[in-house]
Amino acid sequence: CGIVGILGKEAVAPQVVEALRRLEYRGYDSAGVATLENGLLARRRAEGKLKNLEIRLSNEPLEGLIGIGHTRWATHGKPNETNAHPHATEKLAVVHNGIIENFRELKVELEADGYVFKTQTDTEIVAQLVTRELDRGKKPVAAIAHCLPRLRGAFALAFLFQGEEDLLIGARNGPPLAVGVGDGEMYLGSDAVALAPFTNLIAYLEEGDWVVLNRKGAIFYDKANVQVERRARRVAAGS
Ligand code: GLU
Repeated sequence: CGIVGILGKEAVAPQVVEALRRLEYRGYDSAGVATLENGLLARRRAEGKLKNLEIRLSNEPLEGLIGIGHTRWATHGKPNETNAHPHATEKLAVVHNGIIENFRELKVELEADGYVFKTQTDTEIVAQLVTRELDRGKKPVAAIAHCLPRLRGAFALAFLFQGEEDLLIGARNGPPLAVGVGDGEMYLGSDAVALAPFTNLIAYLEEGDWVVLNRKGAIFYDKANVQVERRARRVAAGS
């Protein structure tokens, strides 16, 4: 299973799929991509191999210079298209590797607030939890800062927000997450191998970190939401 995010200069969906292919070795049962087309969230997902997703994308291409992608290894909810990531609301899309252990109690809380769930995954509670903060008037960075401390379990996450053409947010609590620095382009990936076609200048999130990316760079925060430095280094090709 794996995560990719790209802030690019041209249509990113093919690059997202290319990076996902480099994560295939981890195993997966479904895959998906979300981008912003003129600021609006658009996504394609497919059960099974990346080839199925590519067929979807060739029939219905995704435009957009910013995107996230995912290969899923289902833990909660059957491996089908509905449960495939990215999960989306009208405000954001999210991809997740790992397990949100307290998803049931958060789901009860969100349902009591009128949020309606469309999938059987633990991941959808992340989408709905952050959406509630956006609905309450918070900006994306503040909403994420508020929500991450409520999540228990292991996760790597990447968020894409409707109308935000120059913003990706990543978070790590367990599974690794790397930030790739390009020339006016920025990347998120489960590992440096995924990003090797695009850049070898890599910074890793430390345990509990989250990161705000735009095309100019990355701002890292630790678990206590304190800004921290995570230096990017050249990694050997293919490592
Ligand atoms: N727990 C999530 C799900 O079942 C993510 C699984 C994964 O790591 O791919 O959808």
